[in-house]
Amino acid sequence: MKSLSSVCVYCGASSRVADVHKEAAHALGDGLARRGIRMVYGGGRVGLMGIAADAAIAAGGEVVGIIPEHIQSAEIEHTGLTELHVVDSMHTRKRMMVERSDAFVILPGGLGTLDEAFEILTWKQLQLHDKPIVIADVDGYWRPLLGLIDHMVAQGFARIDRSALYRVADQIDGVFQALGAMPDAAHPDQPRKM
Ligand code: AMP
Repeated sequence: MKSLSSVCVYCGASSRVADVHKEAAHALGDGLARRGIRMVYGGGRVGLMGIAADAAIAAGGEVVGIIPEHIQSAEIEHTGLTELHVVDSMHTRKRMMVERSDAFVILPGGLGTLDEAFEILTWKQLQLHDKPIVIADVDGYWRPLLGLIDHMVAQGFARIDRSALYRVADQIDGVFQALGAMPDAAHPDQPRKM
């Protein structure tokens, strides 16, 4: 596997989800820690976010959380992290998460996860970064989204090389394989630095 020192995990803050998603979040946090890869995430204790962070910590890994002040109580900031950064806004959080990470994994989530996923995908499309992105399609959760992207391409609204922009894995083992197999650059041109 390609050597990565830190991976950003985007995922849902809801706990009212199927066990298969909780198990995937646990496997991802645990797998990152066991590979010596630091986990960067939104800093909360709730939902898949908390499960992934707890699993990484339990396996002896480093976890960096970045949480905006105004949602500190709603998402219950995690107090057992290697680093917890309380920041002024969502924008600062998202920027720091990108800056602190070598790659991104999108687990199942809701609108917040979608916002983060599209930002990181569109920034790559605009050559603002060329870091690997893996969509973890656990139990087919992201199938409608992947279908929508295919539809955008078919209708001429997006002209993308999907395999260069992102990889899809349906199991957490596959996520690690995809991170290793990811080509270095999404585009032949030199990317702009963030
Ligand atoms: P969700 O996928 O909606 O459960 O949210 C997952 C994470 O995304 C949570 O940490 C939210 O704080 C965060 N989030 C929610 N809305 C936004 C947004 N507009 N931009 C960035 N992050 C968000």
